[in-house]
Amino acid sequence: MSYTNAEPSFVHAYTDPGLSLDTIQASWQRARETGEWHDWRWQFRNRITDIETLKQLIHVSREEENAFKASGKNLPFAVTPYYMTLVDPHNPQDPIRKTVIPRIDEFATSHHEMIDPCGEDKNSPVPGLVHRYPDRVLFLVNDMCSVYCRYCTRSRVVGSGDLHPEYAHIFEYLEQHTEVRDVLISGGDPLVFSDDKLEDIISRLRSIKHIEVIRIGTKVPVVLPQRVTDNLVKMLKKYHPFFMSIHFLHPREITPEVIEACNRLADAGIPTFSQTVLLKDVNDDPDVMKTLMQKLLTLRVRPYYIYQCDPVQGTSHFRTPITTGLKIMEHLRGHTTGYAVPTYVIDAPGGGGKIPVSPDYVLSRDEEKIVLRNYEGNTFEYHLN
Ligand SMILES: *Cc1c(COP(=O)(O)O)cnc(C)c1O
Repeated sequence: MSYTNAEPSFVHAYTDPGLSLDTIQASWQRARETGEWHDWRWQFRNRITDIETLKQLIHVSREEENAFKASGKNLPFAVTPYYMTLVDPHNPQDPIRKTVIPRIDEFATSHHEMIDPCGEDKNSPVPGLVHRYPDRVLFLVNDMCSVYCRYCTRSRVVGSGDLHPEYAHIFEYLEQHTEVRDVLISGGDPLVFSDDKLEDIISRLRSIKHIEVIRIGTKVPVVLPQRVTDNLVKMLKKYHPFFMSIHFLHPREITPEVIEACNRLADAGIPTFSQTVLLKDVNDDPDVMKTLMQKLLTLRVRPYYIYQCDPVQGTSHFRTPITTGLKIMEHLRGHTTGYAVPTYVIDAPGGGGKIPVSPDYVLSRDEEKIVLRNYEGNTFEYHLN
């Protein structure tokens, strides 16, 4: 089986004539009245994928328009109608807009940027599988997403049709590699598959005796929360222990629809964890990040990772200094519930895996004592004998 599909590049989408605003708004209004708005398939089918339609919905700056006109092989453009309603139509500085609307900076590459920053391709024993750590693997089941994040770490394959996961070989590899006890299913986004396609994959993994933990990495509960249906969670909970890592960026993403999706997952006994990429002018503010982490806890989503933005080509406009991340961590630890404090990691360029970076709380250490500072900056000594 092979489930990948190439998306049209947003560059080609430039010539699409698009629909008039009246037509779009009328169709959205009709969808709201008929309830189709709440149907994830409607949301997926009606994604905004071209500039002309986009221009009907929000004010597109000249710079953004130039990004659509620029030529080159780039990440496709797509936003669900639901997620588009979170974009401020008039504010070019809107944090949510920056993460999904292309900018001309995407075409710039700086010195240390790479096509495959996390070295996934070289740790791939079978196409579609990354075996980087001793006991767990990353299974890239597709290259399609419902919404394309402009800072995507996997932009080399996502939406391009260049990822060809060899399912049969992957299952065979996993059968043989008895050291693998944890499979992280990602892509693309696994949750753009139908329940049946997903169940084919998950049940096949569950049939492998040494696989203890199965998890999915996804942004769908945030950008297409309608996808988290009763049927979906009913299917997933058959395969416990089953976990989910959800990509959240900003407190404004937490809407009634997202709350409902997260509650449904938690009520099905699916532990959910958040992953957040630290992005300049999006969430690089200690208060914004703290609000996000605290809100996530109220949804029973446990903050898991804050990622330093990977040095992927065309993302320099998103990158912050490490000190920004450290300041955020400093603002969380001790100042709020420990559960709301994720781990700040750098996925080591070249394929070293995720490495934690943390503010220094150890001031000095020798055989007799360790000198520590706490979250308030006070110094304490712990004597070892
Ligand atoms: C992130 C990642 C994992 C999972 O890492 P955890 O720290 O266990 O969540 C596994 N494999 C690869 C290649 C990854 O990038």
